Formats: sequence, structure tokens, C-alpha cells
Amino acid sequence: LVASMEGPEESYIMIKPDGVQRGLVGEIISRFEKKGFLLKGLKLFQCPKDLAEEHYKDLKEKPFFPKLIEYITSGPVVCMAWEGAGVVASARKLIGATNPLQAEPGTIRGDLAVQTGRNVVHGSDSPENGKREIALWFKEGEICEWVPAQAPWLR
Ligand code: ADP
Ligand code: MG
Repeated sequence: LVASMEGPEESYIMIKPDGVQRGLVGEIISRFEKKGFLLKGLKLFQCPKDLAEEHYKDLKEKPFFPKLIEYITSGPVVCMAWEGAGVVASARKLIGATNPLQAEPGTIRGDLAVQTGRNVVHGSDSPENGKREIALWFKEGEICEWVPAQAPWLR
């Protein structure tokens, strides 16, 4: 058993600085909430350069890497951990293609963005990376393991 794959599937979703600056936080969170995934971590956070570099380490050799790090550290981001069966692939579908001009209408990037370098949101690309990224961005005690109540406010 691979230790990093224990427990339910999780995705690290992050509203990038442009999404925060443009006032899209509620809109973006709402899409994952309405879909039915479980929110287990949430914070507004100014990302330091070394964390941005670690998060995007697989892209280190890309020509756009310095601009990407500058972008991600340019202002606060909203860090989220979402849980659910199939959440990684489903979140990628809700987010849409990397280039917002190729993202389908109805997706977050398709509806809300135009530039690849300003594409408002991040989503993990595999369950392994979901676990890795949540461990990277959240400290112990910042993740809530909880079960939604069966709507007791209706009774
Ligand atoms: P995704 O976020 O869809 O998983 P990638 O992992 O390929 O996409 O890239 C990570 C992020 O790097 C993208 O979301 C985008 O912010 C940025 N990026 C990717 N390709 C480019 C590019 N050609 N020019 C500028 N920024 C890019
Ligand atoms: Mg990616």
C-alpha cells in the first residue's frame, strides 16, 4: 500500500491571484460546492516564492516559469482541499482547458478567463498530486475531517 494514496480522493484547488483580485472567489468556490464535493480546507494565503517553485517544480524548465512564479506570488491566493470519489478528474472538467480560449463554455476558465497566463484557478492533475499538494499548502490542523449533517436545520 502506498502511504500517500491512503484515504479518500482529494484535490488541491487554488484560486490564483487574478481570481481573487477580480472578485471571483465566491463564484469559483460555489461551482465545487454545488457539484457536491466536500470542502475540507480553505484559506486566503500570500504564497512565498519557494512554495510556488516547489508546487510548480515539474515546469521549472519551461520558458514561462519565472513569469508563472511572479504571477502566483503577485497577491493572495485561496487554497482549498476538496474531497470526493473522482474529485480530481471532475475538478479538471469543471476548471476546463489550460488555455481559457480553448476551455469550453460552462467551465470556470471557459466562462471567466481569456489568457493562459491568467487562468484564475489551479486543480491537481492526479490523486497522487492531490495528496502531495494538500500536504504542501496546508499545515497540520488546517484540514477538517467532517461529515455533512443530514439537514437538521430543516427539521
Ligand atoms: P494546468 O493548470 O491546466 O494543469 P499546466 O500544469 O500545464 O496547466 O501549467 C500550469 C500553469 O502554468 C497554468 O495553469 C498556467 O497558469 C501556466 N502556464 C502553462 N502554460 C503556459 C504558457 N504557455 N504561458 C504562460 N503560462 C502558462
Ligand atoms: Mg497542471
